[in-house]
Amino acid sequence: MHEDLPQSCFAERRRALLGQLPDGASVLLFAPAEVLRNGDVVYPYRPNSYFWYLTGFPEPDAAALLQKKNGAAHYTLFSQARDPMLEIWNGRIIGQEAAKSVYGADDARPTASLDAALPALLADSHRLYAVLGNAADDARLTAIMRGAHAAAGRGGISLEGLFDVRQLLDNARLIKCPDEQALLAKAGKISAAGHCAAMLAAQTAAYEYQVQAALEAAFRQHGCGWSFPSIVAGGANACCLHYHANHAALAADALLLVDAGAEYAGYAGDITRTFPVRGRFSPEQRVLYQIVLDAQQAAVDAARPGIAHLELHRLTAVSLMQGMIDAGIIQGNAEELVGDVSAAPDAKQPAPYRQWYPHGTGHWLGLDVHDVGVYKIEGKSRRYQAGMAITIEPGLYIQPDDTSVDEKWRGIGIRIEDDAVITAGGCRVLTADVPKTIEEIEYFLRHGGRDLP
Ligand code: MG
Ligand code: MG
Repeated sequence: MHEDLPQSCFAERRRALLGQLPDGASVLLFAPAEVLRNGDVVYPYRPNSYFWYLTGFPEPDAAALLQKKNGAAHYTLFSQARDPMLEIWNGRIIGQEAAKSVYGADDARPTASLDAALPALLADSHRLYAVLGNAADDARLTAIMRGAHAAAGRGGISLEGLFDVRQLLDNARLIKCPDEQALLAKAGKISAAGHCAAMLAAQTAAYEYQVQAALEAAFRQHGCGWSFPSIVAGGANACCLHYHANHAALAADALLLVDAGAEYAGYAGDITRTFPVRGRFSPEQRVLYQIVLDAQQAAVDAARPGIAHLELHRLTAVSLMQGMIDAGIIQGNAEELVGDVSAAPDAKQPAPYRQWYPHGTGHWLGLDVHDVGVYKIEGKSRRYQAGMAITIEPGLYIQPDDTSVDEKWRGIGIRIEDDAVITAGGCRVLTADVPKTIEEIEYFLRHGGRDLP
């Protein structure tokens, strides 16, 4: 992972978190050990986002203990011990010295000593905070609480409870500081470069995975991997929202939907473009594409501080339905087809528009592609604030067996997705480097990757 944020930024986050916690609080966060893929091959390691957010520490099998004692902050970092023989095989281990000098720990210890060291380290703590919800970590935390209670019986330790730190961290992560916005912008730029390469590659590719290869090669050219498995879906495969088999042959007259993003310094890009495999939209593809584009543009224009997440969704959904009605694809009243989007979704009787627009208009974006943060506060859709990063991604999907529309529309799936940061007066799109209008796309493909003059 690129390490583009200064360590002072991580230190500031630790300070901010402890500033919200009572005296005597301890926060314990785990970085998982590597996971076996098969035989002795491990999956590529990617730090847990919460752990990364607070430490910027890149190695697996570590733990961070942040404590507030008599108003002062204390940071103990547990990480792998250095091992000359192991380092010959696997490369340099950061070790305890650098954990302090580079990563800002007040105290650094080998991970192997964690279980034995915790009772003494937690002796003065009243509350233990952690990221709950992961079964393996939850079991470790429960064991720690059990140990503390057993010790309390002997020595009067007062660890009164285990608390979930997620809400505090989620709220912090939801607002991106200028440094983070710059990293998201970079992820957006590199993602855009991948999408441009994919559009060009599709003109001669025979299979979806060949387009994927060009897309991800561009990510790698910038030292990046993907932020989630790339979706490269030709023709009706685009009607499956999370299709990522990417192994089908490309039909010359089909559209190709590519939903993919690069991860830069831990921050996710997430772009979708849908374009004609051989460079020109058919009349039906053109009509549906323009409907989605109009809705996407309306959502970009409307995204600003104060608008609620579901308000943006409603506006987008109504725009999509009105577009389909105006084009004579469906009949009805757009407002009625969409209905009350704030009502709890009824799986048995979804609102009619869900048949063609089954997903949301966007999500938080950050260290996780579907970033943390609740979408409702006290039952009400959350309002956007400056510094939040979102995706804006309406789509229309006419399933191949959709007999409610004329045959000529069936099997077309279109989504258009950009990344944006909410600013004081609107939003800043981070992924504008990929052609998006019909004219831009056709020109780009006809002229081997040149933008409209
Ligand atoms: Mg996406
Ligand atoms: Mg998305």
